[in-house]
Amino acid sequence: MLSRGVKQLGRLRPCSQGILPSFACRGFASPTLPELTKDRYPHVKRGEFAKLDQNHLKFFRDLLGENRVLNDPSDCEIYNVDWNRNVRGYSDCVLKPKTTQEVSQILSFCNEHRLAVSPQGGNTGLVGGSVPVFDEIVLSLSLMNNIISVDDTSGILVCEGGCVLEYLDEQLANHGLMMPLDLGAKGSCQIGGNVSTNAGGLRLLRYGNLQGNVLGIEAVKANGEILDCLSALKKDNTGFHLKHLFIGSEGALGVVTKVAIQCPAKPQAVNLAFLGVKSFDNILTTFRRAKRELGEILSSFEMIDEQSIGAVMGHLKVKSPIDNHPFYVLFETQGSNDAHDQEKIHRFLENIMGDGTVLDGTVTNEPSKMRAIWDLRERIAEAFLHDGYVFKYDITLPLEKFYSIVDVMRERLGSDVLRCCGYGHIGDGNIHFTVTTKEFSKDILKRIEPFVYEFTSELKGSISAEHGIGFRKPQYIHYSKSDAAIHLMKELKKLMDPKGILNPYKVLP
Ligand SMILES: Cc1cc2nc3c(=O)[nH]c(=O)nc-3n(C[C@H](O)[C@H](O)[C@H](O)COP(=O)(O)OP(=O)(O)OC[C@H]3O[C@@H](n4cnc5c(N)ncnc54)[C@H](O)[C@@H]3O)c2cc1C
Repeated sequence: MLSRGVKQLGRLRPCSQGILPSFACRGFASPTLPELTKDRYPHVKRGEFAKLDQNHLKFFRDLLGENRVLNDPSDCEIYNVDWNRNVRGYSDCVLKPKTTQEVSQILSFCNEHRLAVSPQGGNTGLVGGSVPVFDEIVLSLSLMNNIISVDDTSGILVCEGGCVLEYLDEQLANHGLMMPLDLGAKGSCQIGGNVSTNAGGLRLLRYGNLQGNVLGIEAVKANGEILDCLSALKKDNTGFHLKHLFIGSEGALGVVTKVAIQCPAKPQAVNLAFLGVKSFDNILTTFRRAKRELGEILSSFEMIDEQSIGAVMGHLKVKSPIDNHPFYVLFETQGSNDAHDQEKIHRFLENIMGDGTVLDGTVTNEPSKMRAIWDLRERIAEAFLHDGYVFKYDITLPLEKFYSIVDVMRERLGSDVLRCCGYGHIGDGNIHFTVTTKEFSKDILKRIEPFVYEFTSELKGSISAEHGIGFRKPQYIHYSKSDAAIHLMKELKKLMDPKGILNPYKVLP
């Protein structure tokens, strides 16, 4: 039965905006820290970088003042552990610049003294890219959080790299605009981190890849040189498009200090539907028909399987307006005329439920109810943490094979794991395939990797759809990149960062 409107559900936000999530606020099942990366992955050896000493610290304190140089191990702890608690470094130094000039002076000094640096945004990355592997200095962008300009007419936003995504979205709303990307980590992730990972997210289907919306970038190279490519023009074909060097380069080629982004108008009408379906094939049928019948207003199309929604409902006590289905679909529309959009959605739902493709569903345009439904999707990653250890894979597969990785892995892993499941962005062919166990297990890891990457590669998919390569995947990059492409990436790295101080041990094999 199609019910109009859903029960009022409380909004549960994991973290307050702009603040690095603490372990407690992330609701971790146990407060124990993960094993140090150097111990869990002993084959990775520390590079020949200098070790931090009192002279280095004096330079940083003279430049930034006492308060913006963290040196106490307990203050540095949260900057050393990734969001998923997969990896942990042991840096004793976190630097918090406020200006591009300060970033430039820090990097120039680190380059001269061969000190390795790990740039960090909101630390919500899921591939171990944002935290030190050993004792790299953490360069946190969190205090570079100013909006520089918003042009109401062109929709162009210029801001500093440390602005939190949700904060930007809230500020843009005052101008009738919105950010062209949205993701579950929006309360903590920063625009510099989003650009550096070329983040995808929930509305890529409608607004396209972030790289298409970034008009310009200011970045600081490893030697401290400031590269001003902060063009705020939609058209600018003057030579090489250098901004692309930094989009998706995961902090390995430079630090993104400012960004100019094209932002769409905030929609006048938003509707959200949450549906239960009995098979993955029926999800595909629903998607095909939604594209045809809702085409110009469809802004998001997500799927969740039973085990994934079970984690959010069980661990986080988020309520679902419908339950007991093997699969769920969440689709959103954004348009300019609510009556028009609703009429289309209702006709679509009547048809698709009438022929049994969709078993049950609910649709709403009330903000609090939409938020409650989005929580079911956006808080899945957080819920998994309560199981213990999370093996998370972010892959692109051809749509008809999207869910096959879960079926195959369930056969391989049997009952030796707590959960083996998948959810993700159907609209982009991007599944977040996840396995959870009580604690980290080398044996389970070996049964998943490299099989998951071989499987993806055989189906001509991508081993990293949107999260990047980070620390977890450099040795597998060849499954998705040719030797020639990897060679060119290495050449670019040598050119941009000859001493290799920026994010060593990551991205490149
Ligand atoms: C609950 C949850 C949901 C998520 N959903 C999505 C999703 O839908 N789509 C998606 O794409 N990702 C998603 N992610 C992953 C993550 O949020 C994104 O990768 C995000 O873009 C990272 O931003 P950040 O500021 O947290 O970067 P960090 O995690 O701090 O860093 C990520 C990488 O970028 C580098 N970096 C960070 N800031 C800078 C900078 N200013 N200059 C240079 N390098 C920098 C770091 O060194 C690191 O390599 C999700 C994560 C969580 C926890």
